[in-house]
Amino acid sequence: MIDKNIITELENIVGKSNVLTDPSDLMLYSYDATQFYRVPDLVVVVHNSDEVSKIVKLTRKNNVNLYPRGSGTNLSGGSIPADGGIVIELNRLNKILDIDVQNRIAVVEPGVVAATLDAEVSKKGLFYPPDPGSIAVATIGGCVAEGAGGLRALKYGTTKDYIIGLEVVLPNGDILQTGSLALRGSPGFDLTHLFVGSEGTLGIITKIAVRLIYPAKARKTFLIMYDSVGLAGTAVAKIIENKIIPSTMEFLDKITINAVEDFKKIGLPRDIEALLLIEIDGEAEDVEASAKILEDVCMKVGARSISVAKDDAQRLDLMEARRSALPVLARLKPTTILEDATVPRSKVPEMLEKIHDIQGKYDLMIGSFGHAGDGNLHPTILVDRRNKEEMKKVDMAIKEIFDYCIDLGGTLTGEHGIGIVKAPFMEKEFKKEGLSLFRDIKKALDPDNKLNPNKVVGAKEVHLDYI
Ligand SMILES: Cc1cc2nc3c(=O)[nH]c(=O)nc-3n(C[C@H](O)[C@H](O)[C@H](O)COP(=O)(O)OP(=O)(O)OC[C@H]3O[C@@H](n4cnc5c(N)ncnc54)[C@H](O)[C@@H]3O)c2cc1C
Repeated sequence: MIDKNIITELENIVGKSNVLTDPSDLMLYSYDATQFYRVPDLVVVVHNSDEVSKIVKLTRKNNVNLYPRGSGTNLSGGSIPADGGIVIELNRLNKILDIDVQNRIAVVEPGVVAATLDAEVSKKGLFYPPDPGSIAVATIGGCVAEGAGGLRALKYGTTKDYIIGLEVVLPNGDILQTGSLALRGSPGFDLTHLFVGSEGTLGIITKIAVRLIYPAKARKTFLIMYDSVGLAGTAVAKIIENKIIPSTMEFLDKITINAVEDFKKIGLPRDIEALLLIEIDGEAEDVEASAKILEDVCMKVGARSISVAKDDAQRLDLMEARRSALPVLARLKPTTILEDATVPRSKVPEMLEKIHDIQGKYDLMIGSFGHAGDGNLHPTILVDRRNKEEMKKVDMAIKEIFDYCIDLGGTLTGEHGIGIVKAPFMEKEFKKEGLSLFRDIKKALDPDNKLNPNKVVGAKEVHLDYI
């Protein structure tokens, strides 16, 4: 329960209509894409950094937890108000402040949707590469806070590679500027990148400067079918060994292919075990030369067939089909548990085989897809949370996937963040010393642990129910 005086002060800062207390409104802010939930005590909608700063000061003074939220599409429980308190909604901070064509830089507010930025800069002949599967709804602020990746990350990198400066409201309410609009600079600690991937635990991002590039002139998109998951994994490693760096190299297994085909009906073969969706881009003659090498390598590894998108419309259909993988899998069972196991690229075949074995061992339905070129796999466990026996098996399967992934030199998360769901595994990856440094950094910035508490550093165990 939030004290009446605090509600009045919030109303004075943002106006009455921007303080939400109605239970049906609050329910909408209780969950993210993990399907866990906890209803906030209140939601406050902000429109500028000054309001954010005043709210941070007010909540800190009154010992109230505050949870930043963009579109709530994260997959790790990051925006859920797990310990009770106030959700601060940042979507209305949604202006593109500048697109500087000469310097190839854009300055935006955090609530700008990623696809909007992509579309607006492309009108000016520029390109912002990070493209999470959720590009149509995810905010740039959420993407910075998560360090989001996407389908083009193999060649172009992830969000962190494009952020050159930030405005951040610190947990004490101070407004900090980091970085600059210069594309080079290395004074002192890299404060900008301290906040990239910090998942709203160290500050609230209110302005973002991104670097832009020129788009490729030509591209070619391939669908490559395999009769085994292992062969598809081997092809991924071999393509790169042959010095071809596709902009996109996505993997879908049989369960995912069938779920996509059921929904999209684009003619994907239902009997194959694995499919690679690969796009190469660059200068026209380079694309043609790389295409030939790519086709040779894939056939040598044992592809059943290769097809090429015949035009831009078909190419966009294929990309759209890939982006639908998670939502279409989620239709198959009441509960979807998506993991983000990421391994060195050469270990992709081993990791895929292991996931396949774990699926058999625990008799679970696991659809796998992901950014195979980055070794970033998304084993998606499809279950019914009401089945307690099945949920016990899920816990064991997840632990086995994480253990194996870390043993292969991988990481808990390639792009979906730690949030709440992976916080208990942090020590396994970072060891005592690493986790303790994470906690010291959090304490230095947020000594009262009021900003998105217990996310990432997992100071205490948090139990959440499925919605
Ligand atoms: C279908 C689907 C496909 C997806 N595909 C991908 C993918 O390919 N790659 C990928 O990386 N992710 C993917 N995601 C995950 C998700 O979309 C990304 O993490 C995205 O960046 C989250 O943006 P958001 O606006 O929804 O942020 P939210 O979910 O609202 O917030 C994410 C985290 O950031 C914090 N936060 C939000 N805004 C701010 C801010 N302004 N300042 C400080 N902290 C803030 C929140 O507290 C939370 O911890 C996918 C999700 C779905 C549902």
